[in-house]
Amino acid sequence: DKSRLRLPPWLKREIPMGENYAQLKTQLRDLKLATVCEEARCPNIGECWGGGEHGTSTATIMLMGDTCTRGCRFCSIKTARAPPPLNPEEPVNTAIAVAKWGVDYIVLTSVDRDDLPDGGSNHIAATIKELKNRTNILVEALVPDFAGNETCIKTIVNSKLDVFAHNIETVERLTPFVRDRRAHYKQSLKVLKMAKELNPNLITKSSIMLGLGETDEEVETTIRDLRSAGVDALTLGQYMQPTKRHLKVIEYVTPEKFKHWEEFGNTSGFLYTASGPLRQQDEARLPQLVGPEVC
Ligand code: SF4
Repeated sequence: DKSRLRLPPWLKREIPMGENYAQLKTQLRDLKLATVCEEARCPNIGECWGGGEHGTSTATIMLMGDTCTRGCRFCSIKTARAPPPLNPEEPVNTAIAVAKWGVDYIVLTSVDRDDLPDGGSNHIAATIKELKNRTNILVEALVPDFAGNETCIKTIVNSKLDVFAHNIETVERLTPFVRDRRAHYKQSLKVLKMAKELNPNLITKSSIMLGLGETDEEVETTIRDLRSAGVDALTLGQYMQPTKRHLKVIEYVTPEKFKHWEEFGNTSGFLYTASGPLRQQDEARLPQLVGPEVC
């Protein structure tokens, strides 16, 4: 397809497959756990699973199955109106598996489950509690918007998690084209604000994808909006088209531009900003933020 942009040199890299990587992969298979790292074919997988450059190893587990009730146009997860029921053993199984890995930081992410009365919030909270009862691992939960439902958000923020993450994904103008129609820019801001107000000890975090046709002014506004919602940690990354049926990449944003956004974030008052074409996450720095002096 000639209309597709060529991959710039800074995005070409080999996926390193170390020993840790192989071990994690086998265990995940055995326990029938899904990871978004693999589902989304994340290029950081080798680094994260292998013990990153800062010596912190991270894994991202996807809860509540591999089928989402929403259909965002940047995401390659399967969609269904009524996905299969939750596995009630998943919270315990996940905690047992993660406790064995020796990772320092775990990101629990999930599909959206608009079909469940609580959006799956109790399931996510149960997983966090099981993990926290067994380990000292720092837990980040990247959660759905729960349609802005306060009870669901309360359930999550009171589960002893360290980092509450919810992604705004893109600027306000592009939201209806990029995210599922049930997702709203202002609703996501509200969810982040509510989480921080309900539990000010939490680190809140959000992420923006670049390369979807947003302007610099729009990115600035989004960053400011996130800060105004009390968000502590900001990450920016390049949007990558997962399949030909998904949104096209409009622009490969240069590493220099990502650096600019990192500086912009840092001067806007975030505790930390990680911005780069490949790294949407920089969990290695988060453990310092969620140490005893913060929580
Ligand atoms: Fe993907 Fe959107 Fe579902 Fe999240 S809510 S898993 S981004 S389709």
